[in-house]
Amino acid sequence: MKVLIADDNAMSRLTLRAQLKKWGYEVVEAIDGDAAWSILSMPDTPRLAILDWMMPGLDGPELCRRVRAQGQEPYLYLILLTGREGRDDVVAGLDAGADDYVTKPFDAQELRVRVRAGERICGLQEELVSARESLRYEATHDHLTGAWNRAAILDALERERARAARASSQLSVAMIDFDHFKRINDMYGHVVGDAVLKEGIGRIRAALRSRDMVGRYGGEEFLAVLPGCDAEGASSVCERVRGAVAAEPIRVGDYRIHATVSIGAAAWSGLPDASEIVDRADAALYRAKHGGRDRVELAPNAANDRHGPLHDPRRVTGTDDGGR
Ligand SMILES: [Mg+2]
Repeated sequence: MKVLIADDNAMSRLTLRAQLKKWGYEVVEAIDGDAAWSILSMPDTPRLAILDWMMPGLDGPELCRRVRAQGQEPYLYLILLTGREGRDDVVAGLDAGADDYVTKPFDAQELRVRVRAGERICGLQEELVSARESLRYEATHDHLTGAWNRAAILDALERERARAARASSQLSVAMIDFDHFKRINDMYGHVVGDAVLKEGIGRIRAALRSRDMVGRYGGEEFLAVLPGCDAEGASSVCERVRGAVAAEPIRVGDYRIHATVSIGAAAWSGLPDASEIVDRADAALYRAKHGGRDRVELAPNAANDRHGPLHDPRRVTGTDDGGR
């Protein structure tokens, strides 16, 4: 583990360095507060820092305050080194954001124990962060395909809609649905069906641009958010996606399964409600299905569309999942 020593006294640095190295730590040194701050602001800064209280430039407590104000992750464990033993000073140091303090001249064993405690806290905090990150991943991703889940892709759409409104830029969405997927499940079983979906979404992602996002909207239905795309752009991205899925059969074990997708795309019309664009893409998808599948349909410009989502026949007749 790397430890930063910030102390303007060369003798003090020498002693600290010798001890820390003896205990197996890698040591980084700063000769004053400003040098320490520039090291502590770097992305790969040591996680544990021993800071002298009195230094030219920024002093120890001020460094603590700045580090805490940044609120950075991973957590930095800060030990103040001080000649002051007054209770008020200790309180002020801890109040500034220090985790612990050691009084000078320091006792080697005491320092060792305190540095170890800091190392343990850093380790625990790292575990917490990684547990939180994996929970966040679980909460936002579809576990089968690794795509975003429904809530996360709708969040992304809302974020992109707000961004497009701010920047007066284009935005499109595509509703992508695997054709006759129920037949694949019925014919080969769900394990194979899942494998087809996984490979299919892999092809879809590879065909999308790096800025695009795709999430699982329903069983075999995926929603792609295409920032910066007008209707024409969306149409060419979707055509590439359609072609990538249909290009060659998906191999699962000994099976070679020909999967295709139908896609309905819609360009954002400027309305503040993101669900409106999804409804229009959905209506276009419905037309793609009825137009023969394995095809892309573009929603009409919202302003000219007199047959809005309320007239989507599925909402009158009910869905027909077996047929999709
Ligand atoms: Mg000093």
